[in-house]
Amino acid sequence: MRLVFMGPPGAGKGTQAKRLAAAYGLRHISTGDLIRAAIQNETPLGQKAKPYLEAGQLVPDELVWELARAALAERHYDHFVLDGFPRTVQQAEWLDELLRQVGRPLQVVLNLIVPDELIIKRLSRRRVHKITGENYHLDFNPPPPDVDPSLIIQRPDDRPEAIRQRLEVYRATHEPLEQYYRACGLLVDVDGVGSMDEVSARIQAVLKAQGVLTA
Ligand code: ADP
Ligand code: ADP
Repeated sequence: MRLVFMGPPGAGKGTQAKRLAAAYGLRHISTGDLIRAAIQNETPLGQKAKPYLEAGQLVPDELVWELARAALAERHYDHFVLDGFPRTVQQAEWLDELLRQVGRPLQVVLNLIVPDELIIKRLSRRRVHKITGENYHLDFNPPPPDVDPSLIIQRPDDRPEAIRQRLEVYRATHEPLEQYYRACGLLVDVDGVGSMDEVSARIQAVLKAQGVLTA
């Protein structure tokens, strides 16, 4: 399976990508996670990416591509679900070119649609585990009681000012990318409003309708 999740920050890309990865043995490739790990490990790439991430801006294409390409190679350019990548037409073109070369083109780009008010609710109450990176929501998916609360943190870019900034960046960049994938016939809109299970069921239905899932 070769899938991409697109959608605004907080749409539920990570949540749904993890579920698909667990169900079908896919590599979940989140460029946000890869960038945060590079920053944590103080790699040269992480040091270059840090100011962009902290400002809620997109990290330069070349840096993100280096991380995404290496992750794709680990599973021989198959069995992956991309989350938060591509975010620019340049990234999409590089990805297409690489997958064309290896004869494994993308099958579907799932475009999660969620209105802004709900995004703010989801992001402002999102919490992450400092070590495992596990994703929680204080109301909809609270951390279990046996998890040490001091390890549950809010991402700095999930504070209100940074959320607004990221939404603006999204609005300014997503349209050309959507058009790009619509023109390729790969883009399928998925309503991201509703419970996590409801959204999962919609995604399953799309994958069946597109012939990606046969069962
Ligand atoms: P979100 O939960 O908002 O979708 P991510 O964890 O995917 O956030 O991304 C966090 C930050 O990492 C982004 O605001 C951006 O700075 C950087 N980033 C992640 N993926 C990309 C990408 N494909 N291109 C450029 N920057 C990226
Ligand atoms: P993204 O990867 O698109 O930024 P996440 O998957 O991290 O989004 O989801 C953002 C927040 O909203 C997280 O705290 C997550 O637990 C929560 N969340 C995700 N999907 C839903 C849903 N369908 N209903 C309620 N909360 C959700």
